[in-house]
Amino acid sequence: MKKCPACTFDLTQTDYEGFRILQCGQCFGHLVPVQRFEAIKRLEGKSLDELKDEVDSSLHEDCASHVKCPRCYRRMDKQTVDLPLVDFQTDLCRTCQLVWLDGGELALVQLAYQIRNNFIDAQELKRRMNELEATPDRKAQFEQNLANLPKSQNPLVEALEEECHRLLESFGSRWH
Ligand SMILES: [Zn+2]
Ligand SMILES: [Zn+2]
Repeated sequence: MKKCPACTFDLTQTDYEGFRILQCGQCFGHLVPVQRFEAIKRLEGKSLDELKDEVDSSLHEDCASHVKCPRCYRRMDKQTVDLPLVDFQTDLCRTCQLVWLDGGELALVQLAYQIRNNFIDAQELKRRMNELEATPDRKAQFEQNLANLPKSQNPLVEALEEECHRLLESFGSRWH
């Protein structure tokens, strides 16, 4: 059985949103094949609140020292993951193409992607609103169209924008 590179506890197979990966039962870190990591990053099956809870409940300090690959025992390389809004490092074994993520980091990566997507939507909406403000005729037309939409559409967009700013604020204060 493979051992956790951070705390040496047993790694056990777990189903993470339909992907089989290894998890440490003690520090909640994950060992993920590189390709699966790329796919998991972009999943949107969990809500922002679910992800945030997962990060809060299992985020550990990033281990600064180099860890050894649980499969081939070679030293893993620190690799900076270029994420929207945060950057942090994972450990990578180039030989086995395995990524080690400390507890909570997998959810953190997903959270960053989802917030980025929502944020882009909100920014785009704001840009369009500003454009409309500058052209009263089009604004009147837009408001007319909006009034004809089913009622749920408008509050949804507002809620999205609000949620986005709320999350960005709490996110920014913790990880920037
Ligand atoms: Zn562990
Ligand atoms: Zn390896």
